[in-house]
Amino acid sequence: MRIGIIGCGVVGAAIAYRLSSIPGLEVLVYDSRSPQQFEATGAALGVLMAAISGKLKGRHLKLRLESLRLYESLIPQLEQQTGLEIPYNREGILQLYFEVAELKRFETLQTVRQTQGFDLELWSLERLSQQFPELAQGRSLVEGSEGKSVVGAVYSPQDRQVDPVALTQGLVQGALQQGANIHFETGITGFRAQDFAEEQLLTHLQTVSTEVPVDWVVVSAGLGSTPLTQALKQPIAIQPVLGQAIHLRSKVPLRSPCPVVNGCDVHLVPMNDHELWVGATVEFPEIDPLKIEQARITPSPQALDLVLQQAIALYPALADAEVLRTWQGFRPRPQERAAPVIERLPGYGNVLIASGHYRNGVLLAPITAEKIWSFLQAAL
Ligand SMILES: Cc1cc2nc3c(=O)[nH]c(=O)nc-3n(C[C@H](O)[C@H](O)[C@H](O)COP(=O)(O)OP(=O)(O)OC[C@H]3O[C@@H](n4cnc5c(N)ncnc54)[C@H](O)[C@@H]3O)c2cc1C
Repeated sequence: MRIGIIGCGVVGAAIAYRLSSIPGLEVLVYDSRSPQQFEATGAALGVLMAAISGKLKGRHLKLRLESLRLYESLIPQLEQQTGLEIPYNREGILQLYFEVAELKRFETLQTVRQTQGFDLELWSLERLSQQFPELAQGRSLVEGSEGKSVVGAVYSPQDRQVDPVALTQGLVQGALQQGANIHFETGITGFRAQDFAEEQLLTHLQTVSTEVPVDWVVVSAGLGSTPLTQALKQPIAIQPVLGQAIHLRSKVPLRSPCPVVNGCDVHLVPMNDHELWVGATVEFPEIDPLKIEQARITPSPQALDLVLQQAIALYPALADAEVLRTWQGFRPRPQERAAPVIERLPGYGNVLIASGHYRNGVLLAPITAEKIWSFLQAAL
């Protein structure tokens, strides 16, 4: 059976890796980008926030926790298979908080997570000062709690962070080794379909130069999924939500190894003993999301500065840090429905959608690949 996968960001690459491990499946992947250029995946910080996510139950939480579990075996397996190094921070996530009232919520979260197999440690300010004295002066700049000092922290030892580009390259390499055919700089421009009584079946993917026969199609094209589903007359609106981030070099050495530190929705992601990523802004478009190109808004320097100022407020030693680089990307966010969209495309018997992962596409890539394989298994 021949599966055509459209899009090879972290989500498409994870699907290609999973499906190419199944005997009897022929995997073809198409991406309009070059192997070195990335869309949303290239902008991501790679923070895998599952256990420390505020959600107590529901589909999204279940996906997050299952995906985090998959990561623990996926990374060593990929490294061993491909010989590539995939930077994977196993030091956990440390989240600072600024309101004493928050403690109640974290106590509930801790109890619920225990039943789900995850440990959360609640740290008093005293414990934080002992373990991470450099963070004990942290302040919040968020409106409402502006100027408030840190009062405690939650430490989640089982959450992780991964380098999204190294991961995607590893998945691509692993998929190639397992026999997948991956075509970069080859966008899918259209489809050929056959009509049946109740639904249509796609028979071919079209590029500018050729038509390729397929048995199943997986659309994992991030923001590109909107025009593709429009072409199939079943539009799924996915909105581009801008995120900007910063690569800093600290004058003061950072502790190494170090967990990801989070406070006021800003992440400090350690890279080595002097460098870290900081992000990210969340900037919404105001235009019709079905007109994707128009909806890509211009980055706001003020929004980026606010993130930097919040990072300095969390960790004052960063005040003298040097900005090595800033970057931006667009998160694919489903319009008026929950992220992510992992389902069969209505009206078609052989089209699956794996798109719209919004702020958690890196975290959710392994479980998305499992879900896609489950859909195919059920159809075989
Ligand atoms: C600043 C920022 C920080 C983030 N931080 C995190 C984080 O810490 N943790 C986390 O889990 N997530 C994070 N995210 C979100 C994450 O980046 C996305 O959810 C994820 O990358 C989506 O992956 P994707 O493969 O669906 O999309 P993409 O990476 O956008 O890939 C889609 C691919 O489809 C291709 N394509 C599109 N149209 C076509 C076509 N017609 N034919 C062929 N190919 C096509 C594109 O070229 C592209 O390569 C962040 C995002 C941003 C912007």
